[in-house]
Amino acid sequence: MATTKKIESDYSSSAISAKLESLFQLQLIDSKIDKLKTLRGELPLEVTDLESELEKLNERLEKQESIDSGINESISTQEQKIKNANDLIEKYNSQQMKVRNNREFNAINKELEFQALEIELANKKIKSFGVEIAENAEKIKLIKAKIRERKKHLKNKKSQLSDIVKSTEKDEEKLLKSRKKSEKNVDSNLMNAYLSIRSTSNNGLAVVKINRNACGGCFSSITPQHSLNIRMRKEISFCENCGRILVPDDID
Ligand SMILES: [Zn+2]
Repeated sequence: MATTKKIESDYSSSAISAKLESLFQLQLIDSKIDKLKTLRGELPLEVTDLESELEKLNERLEKQESIDSGINESISTQEQKIKNANDLIEKYNSQQMKVRNNREFNAINKELEFQALEIELANKKIKSFGVEIAENAEKIKLIKAKIRERKKHLKNKKSQLSDIVKSTEKDEEKLLKSRKKSEKNVDSNLMNAYLSIRSTSNNGLAVVKINRNACGGCFSSITPQHSLNIRMRKEISFCENCGRILVPDDID
């Protein structure tokens, strides 16, 4: 069972009540500011994530497109080979007209056959490069579609972010103004305690209502006597388990 310790119990109950109310008010305002920051806090991260995703997609596209130009170069090489072979065939054909014997004729015939084979081989290669180009084109199409979709998403997120920044700026300004007012009603000791509890609290809550005979922050039980004292606004109490400042459940 968590116990509570009290401070400033020598204060009148109306003074204690005012302090508790101010602390609670301060907590409400700070929680609202926390919420605004959380709202804004997630979107910039989403935007940078999308931007780096797009960067990677563009790199992939570039790589895929360079594959494409590589294949096209190979095709040009094969086309050049065909052209050369055809030139040679033309040359051999005219040479064959002028042969003086069978031996020369056969030798040129062999060259002609060889060049015909070269052309056949080059055509086969061009055909398979064509298949590669078609496959690559399909990949490029998919990457481009993905890039378009992500860009659209990024544009949405960016406009959401700028809307939120615009609207939260106003709200935050208002909240900071009322926070300043509330701050004035909390003395420096309590303020330091409040700030230090808030900095270690995972949900930013330093002030919590009691709930029946338990701390509203960590749900540790409080003795009925302390609970009553808190309700009667007789003291400012801290939960011994989580250290949070406890306020009556009817504070607001
Ligand atoms: Zn607690």
